[in-house]
Amino acid sequence: MDHQIGGKSLTEWERMNPIVKKIEAGSEVLWLNPHYGEQGADFVSGQDVADAESRLQRFASYFSAAFPETRASRGRIESPIYALPKLQAFLGEFGDTSISGRLMMKADSELPISGSIKARGGIYEVLKTAEQLAMSAGLLRETDDYAKLAEKSFRTFFSYYSIAVGSTGNLGLSIGIVGATLGFHTTVHMSADASQWKKEMLREKGAIVKEYEADYSVAITEGRRQAAQDPRCHFIDDENSKDLFVGYATAGNRLKKQFADAAISVDSDHPLFVYLPCGVGGGPAGVTFGLKQAFGSHVHAFFVEPTRAPCFLLGLLTGLNDQVSVRDFGLDNRTAADGLAVPRPSAFAGKAAGHLISGCMTVSDERLFQYLKALKDTENHWIEPSAAAGIIGSQMLLGSRAGQHYLAEHQLTDKMINATHLFWATGGGMVPEKNKKAYYAQASRVRPISD
Ligand SMILES: *Cc1c(COP(=O)(O)O)cnc(C)c1O
Repeated sequence: MDHQIGGKSLTEWERMNPIVKKIEAGSEVLWLNPHYGEQGADFVSGQDVADAESRLQRFASYFSAAFPETRASRGRIESPIYALPKLQAFLGEFGDTSISGRLMMKADSELPISGSIKARGGIYEVLKTAEQLAMSAGLLRETDDYAKLAEKSFRTFFSYYSIAVGSTGNLGLSIGIVGATLGFHTTVHMSADASQWKKEMLREKGAIVKEYEADYSVAITEGRRQAAQDPRCHFIDDENSKDLFVGYATAGNRLKKQFADAAISVDSDHPLFVYLPCGVGGGPAGVTFGLKQAFGSHVHAFFVEPTRAPCFLLGLLTGLNDQVSVRDFGLDNRTAADGLAVPRPSAFAGKAAGHLISGCMTVSDERLFQYLKALKDTENHWIEPSAAAGIIGSQMLLGSRAGQHYLAEHQLTDKMINATHLFWATGGGMVPEKNKKAYYAQASRVRPISD
């Protein structure tokens, strides 16, 4: 059946780019982005990101007051970086390729409050909404101590408003927890792929969970429609939100500071490669935008998606962004990586950061479990399956012809000995103990890496 996708038949797409057939077959691929380095449109500015950082700073005293786990970091929500020498040695010995340079992890799985990358964008947009409402009611000024937002009078004020969001799970958790703590009515529209425990946890936190027997695109469309009928409801739109994007982007300068403190160089002789698990694309695109502001051309960002849900790759490859679905290419969007089970990419992310992304990779579910187990066994770090996607990055870059081509094209081949490979561990901090055991047991049943 040769249907039309953006005015071309499937056969035409296959003929134009041989990688398309491999993607349809569910193979793991590395696709290099031909638009990398082009001039992009100005959807987001450095000033937008600086404003977001200032806003987070203003809210630091609120977090210290309302979330005791943030007191140690004085109300800052940030995650550690870890070197992974044992995992690097293990992958070198038993994996496909030995890894030159240094393998590291950005542990967003340990971000306070919600244990995933969504604690960056999702929480930020809730804060911005709360601040605007309180300011326009004359209850708050920028120079105030924001700790007062934890007082009962503010909870009552916010209870007249609602926040809604469509989510595969983690975005709902971030927004549900912070929204409900501030006092908002919070509704989370969840796709069928979302884990049961995430739904249960959200209900416990006081959020309303609406479940859909359909995928993420349907859940978000329905959520958006319902929210539009209520003028006191703010819908956090994962497919279109600039606020989410700039919240994620604040990660760039923070990582720069962390690297400086750890004496890790990023410059023309010390390239940085970052591998970001990608669902709808907003999180990784926002982070990439921030990284480019912090490190310029010395950082190279690759997105990683499940082989059966490579929506961002297809959005960039076809140039159709949100007008393409993985189903158009015969893929079913079924994956154990619940946070990445998204059939259609964010249009905003593609437009705002499509030119900043070096390439996209895909990874099989089997490998996600191998990696989850390997990271636990060698380094004793726990992550969820979605978050393990980035571990394929350095292997794929160094071990594929496309990767070698990229390195040669950017005069990086002889600098790889000095490279830092940072896989962004996007989540896992909220997984209950019994689900961790189940994931680990599942990982113990898949073919081991050493086979
Ligand atoms: C949401 C999520 C991502 C990807 O973020 P998108 O904005 O959907 O691309 C990656 N990993 C985890 C664990 C997530 O929850």
